[in-house]
Amino acid sequence: MKDSTVLVIEDEQDIRDLIRFQLSSEGHEVVMAESVDKAIELMEKHEKIDLFIVDWMLPGVMSGLEFIKKLRLQKKFIETPIIMITALSQADNIVAGLDAGADDYMTKPFDLNVLQARVRVQLRNNLKSGKNASDLLDFGLLKIEISKCRVTVGKEEIQLTSTEFKILTILAQKPGHVFTREQFINNIQGENIFVTGRTIDTHMAGLRKKIGEAANLIETIRGIGYKFKDVL
Ligand code: CA
Repeated sequence: MKDSTVLVIEDEQDIRDLIRFQLSSEGHEVVMAESVDKAIELMEKHEKIDLFIVDWMLPGVMSGLEFIKKLRLQKKFIETPIIMITALSQADNIVAGLDAGADDYMTKPFDLNVLQARVRVQLRNNLKSGKNASDLLDFGLLKIEISKCRVTVGKEEIQLTSTEFKILTILAQKPGHVFTREQFINNIQGENIFVTGRTIDTHMAGLRKKIGEAANLIETIRGIGYKFKDVL
């Protein structure tokens, strides 16, 4: 996790410098750009970027939000963690940021130690998902065998509907990541299944009821969506 390369795109120099100072202290290489144009230039020089910190409102060719959307279309960066930092703090903004492909979202002003901790979470999760060739997601009390669609809580096997199972595995494969209702809908919507935000909530309620005491692993993020506890 140390020695990761972090690309910071932020037009305010003070914030850029503070982020660099903070993350460098943890052994990361911090590459800085004041606009998307500059970031694209730097990305050609740096072989590997392990994490992006992107401001929403930026001067130049495109905003941070548009940049994130473009980034997610590139195979190379499909899984690279992105933390969005912005002064836009409304629930709608946060939802838009996460839907665009950000893994986490911080509103300004933010605490540098919190940012640093969130960087650690993202790098850790990325490491885990990279290694996660295993079919078994084991959270102690709750175990999920993906290929068998088998879920157990303690010793008891739980019967889930296919939608409940999908919701659970989407969350459990990325602990700490906030998923919006829109993201669940995109993942679940399919043949003969029409899903809305409200039906996601209904399935979630059903899922929580069935997994009983393991339900506290799933957190509701008010006005935004859900996340699986970052358990280590
Ligand atoms: Ca800005």
